Amino acid sequence: MPELPEVEVIVRRLRPLFEGRTLTSFRAISKKAVKTNPQTILKAILNQGLKGIQRRGKAIILEFPKGFLIIHLKINGQICLDTKQLPYALVELVFEGAEKNLYVCDRRALAEVRFTTDLDEEPFFKQMGPDVLDSSFTLEYFRDKIKRSRTKIKPLLMDQKFVAGIGNIYAVEALFRARIRPDRPANSLTDEEIERLYEAIKEVVKDSIRHGAVLKKYFYDGKSHPDFSGKLLVYGRENEPCAVCGGKVVKVTLGGRGTYYCPTCQA
Ligand SMILES: [Zn+2]
Repeated sequence: MPELPEVEVIVRRLRPLFEGRTLTSFRAISKKAVKTNPQTILKAILNQGLKGIQRRGKAIILEFPKGFLIIHLKINGQICLDTKQLPYALVELVFEGAEKNLYVCDRRALAEVRFTTDLDEEPFFKQMGPDVLDSSFTLEYFRDKIKRSRTKIKPLLMDQKFVAGIGNIYAVEALFRARIRPDRPANSLTDEEIERLYEAIKEVVKDSIRHGAVLKKYFYDGKSHPDFSGKLLVYGRENEPCAVCGGKVVKVTLGGRGTYYCPTCQA
């Protein structure tokens, strides 16, 4: 699933291509993927200029004068500018003067597009915790929530109601950087560990964005881009030597998800 850094990099790549351009066509190729009546969408955004492209948590938001088109890629959705992926296109957007059309694609057709006039009224955003990169994500908030929770720390980090943007990859990587075992009960963390984890989360997310995130599966524009996948320290590295101590990275299943950690470095 694309997480905060992946969606952030997608948004940054789309901005220079489409911002300020007029939408001349919106096509709901898959009726199931478009959660708002397409007629309502057309009435609101057709022939309107795209004011901006933003991200909230893991959602991409296209801002038009009369409202917002929200794209959620879910597990395997992709943003495609390259027509090679067209058999999996669910939605097509055409902008005047743009070199390429924008497609939301998904082999499993789980990605979703919806329209709203008020982002804060969307149930999906209403329940969402503070975004990792937002100033509302403070150490005080983080510490308070962790101390009150008996959930294991890794599934807690992935709970979007707690903090928005973290999924499996960055939960695993942040816990490694903070030297904390993924299966620790949240309320067993010391103040020092909580602070280390808070810094590690922000750091790994920013590092990933800087290096182009782990984007290969989620963004196609027919070009090759630098990628963060080679810089992941434990994720996907079962039985490989730990970058810090040289011991073996292990893989366990936690909350139904593959979880990687170093039993020597993480306590
Ligand atoms: Zn180690």
